[in-house]
Amino acid sequence: MEEKKFYRLSKLLFDYKDLEPYISKKQLTLHHQKHHQAYVNNANEILRKIDEAREADKNLEMKSILKSLSFNIGGHILHSLFWRNLKPPKKGLLAPENTINNILEKEFGSFSRFKKEFSQAAVSVEGSGWAALTYCSRIQRPLICQIEKHNLNLYPAFKILLVLDVWEHAYYLDYQNDRQKYVENFWPLVNWAEVAKRLAI
Ligand code: MN
Repeated sequence: MEEKKFYRLSKLLFDYKDLEPYISKKQLTLHHQKHHQAYVNNANEILRKIDEAREADKNLEMKSILKSLSFNIGGHILHSLFWRNLKPPKKGLLAPENTINNILEKEFGSFSRFKKEFSQAAVSVEGSGWAALTYCSRIQRPLICQIEKHNLNLYPAFKILLVLDVWEHAYYLDYQNDRQKYVENFWPLVNWAEVAKRLAI
């Protein structure tokens, strides 16, 4: 039988120090190597348990195991998207190029209105979670969503164009409880070229 595949920690496209002064080397290193790695490990461990149970023809606690699998795969996928939609602050565009800019202006009226709504969504996520910009191809409109933890409130199968991690583990070393400041400092780090690429896929 062919060997099963498992998840792997995604590599960053920049060095740990490259998001300074907005996200410190220490904060980013911990976030990537400890927190993100833990979701990868947990998801793989659950997959191995499922494989073992099938092999031995044992029952699985479907409800709890699938909840945990969804949480950990969600954590892994969202972090992978997050790293890719970040860039060093002095590189790349500070605002979206034409395609994305047009979509945002058409939906929100202006780029600054989009930034305001997205920031407010990020700041007001209850507890741990994410803000995300998604795109619904059915109605061809970009929609903001809040994701609770890693997996609740997602629009199923909508494209995710941009995400912002607002779990405390993402910012606490640098900002303590000032999530608002962290969200403000997210904007110079947005990799708009990656956002445009995701829309085009
Ligand atoms: Mn995180």
